[in-house]
Amino acid sequence: MTSDALRHFEEIVGSENVVRPDSERAQDYLKDMADFPSEPLVIVQPTSTEQVSKIVEYARNTKTPTVPRGAGTSLTGASSSHGGIVIDFSKKMNRVLKIDAVNWYVQCEAGITLDDLNEQLRKKGFFFPPDPSSSSWCTVGGAIAENSGGMKCFRYGTVKDWVLALKVVLSDGTIVKLGEPLPKNRVGYDLVHLICGSEGTLAIITEAWLKIIPLPEHNTERKRMLVFFDEWVHAGKSIQGIRINRIQPTLLEFIDRESMQSVNDGFDLKIPVHEATLFIETDSQIENILKICEENGSTGNYIAKDDADEERLYNARALVYLGVKALATGFHTEDVVVPLDRLTDYLEFVKSTSKKYGLRIPTGGHAGDGNVHPVILYEKSSKESEETAEKAFSDICNYAIQVGGSVSGEHGIGEQKISYAAKQIYQHNGKQALELMKQIKMQWDPDNILNPLKFLDITESY
Ligand SMILES: Cc1cc2nc3c(=O)[nH]c(=O)nc-3n(C[C@H](O)[C@H](O)[C@H](O)COP(=O)(O)OP(=O)(O)OC[C@H]3O[C@@H](n4cnc5c(N)ncnc54)[C@H](O)[C@@H]3O)c2cc1C
Repeated sequence: MTSDALRHFEEIVGSENVVRPDSERAQDYLKDMADFPSEPLVIVQPTSTEQVSKIVEYARNTKTPTVPRGAGTSLTGASSSHGGIVIDFSKKMNRVLKIDAVNWYVQCEAGITLDDLNEQLRKKGFFFPPDPSSSSWCTVGGAIAENSGGMKCFRYGTVKDWVLALKVVLSDGTIVKLGEPLPKNRVGYDLVHLICGSEGTLAIITEAWLKIIPLPEHNTERKRMLVFFDEWVHAGKSIQGIRINRIQPTLLEFIDRESMQSVNDGFDLKIPVHEATLFIETDSQIENILKICEENGSTGNYIAKDDADEERLYNARALVYLGVKALATGFHTEDVVVPLDRLTDYLEFVKSTSKKYGLRIPTGGHAGDGNVHPVILYEKSSKESEETAEKAFSDICNYAIQVGGSVSGEHGIGEQKISYAAKQIYQHNGKQALELMKQIKMQWDPDNILNPLKFLDITESY
């Protein structure tokens, strides 16, 4: 980037808010949390929507690729830059602007973390339910752009279900407000939800109006527990049994032996380790749930003793990704979703893929949604090991597409899954659906400057 350009950014945001690529501070921007590399030409940390607008105007005039970035916890390379501007929202645009206790919404800037947001809401007796396990780092903007999920989404839905309105900067620098902070509004095309999950490829979110609800009352019926199994398929059948019996727990998560062991080793949580574990929270029907699990082969269970113990069990599941990541130098994180009636077959398929390729594939995730994440481990220094892991990754994505599932439930597409996403849409929705998406991208971002080379390959013809 020329020194004129850098000076221009310094004039817009102030010199302290421009990070040059050769500086120490730039180190934080060289990869995401799945180690996808990034080489930005400059990082800017704006303090207002107007500054974002000026940065994007420059990008549009000079056709410079521009990537909005939250905390970089993407697991797919979505926030990587390959030569261009990175707009970092996490440092200077992280304020709550309004908590409306009558209309039940919060207005905030894009860069606030979900945990900081919830801390401020808690003081007023409210909360924002979606809870990606990265909630202590990830930002509102990143979570909206990824339409993130989490454990509580089984009950409350994903981030998009909580977004009422957005302030965005378009690819020519125009500032627009989309949607209304109202409980109901059906006026116009739903552009708010077009932006949710668009991974920074259509517009840049600077502010959000999010639905909030009162913190739940303490419920003495509520229990958190672990149920243990000797076989993955027994856990899968138990989930199907719970559903067939029309029981709706509030959390329903799967954790395999290797994942649980990695969490114990990494975070000293002292959780019993079994071939498969279901982590369940329920407000009712605990006896029925345990009976269904027993009928499907459970070998035991553990019910949390108090609030701290409940927190320990929740953390055990939330820390799986970090525990497992420490097991190998290389990893591919899957995020496929399968229809619930295929969950048991899916778990068997992951097991057989691990055996077929001789790879370790610790597996854990949102079993109640059919969104269980295998993490394919490999040796980064070995080309052969990496290629074998890619084959396993491909097999699992193709399996999901074949059984009517999806290649991404919550982590998004990024650089990792463009071809699989296109294949899924092509096979499940048809060529026209892909063409429509391409036209939407070209309409919103005709010069392809917003997070190019991600999400949808608009140069490919279908
Ligand atoms: C340990 C760990 C656990 C995780 N657990 C979960 C989980 O349970 N559920 C889940 O869904 N995900 C999970 N993730 C993935 C990730 O944390 C989420 O996708 C998260 O919401 C990304 O937020 P971020 O602020 O880090 O975004 P980034 O990684 O910075 O960006 C992600 C995408 O959003 C875009 N973006 C960021 N900010 C904006 C903005 N202001 N406007 C427009 N686009 C923007 C970026 O360009 C990029 O495409 C996990 C990740 C880790 C490391």
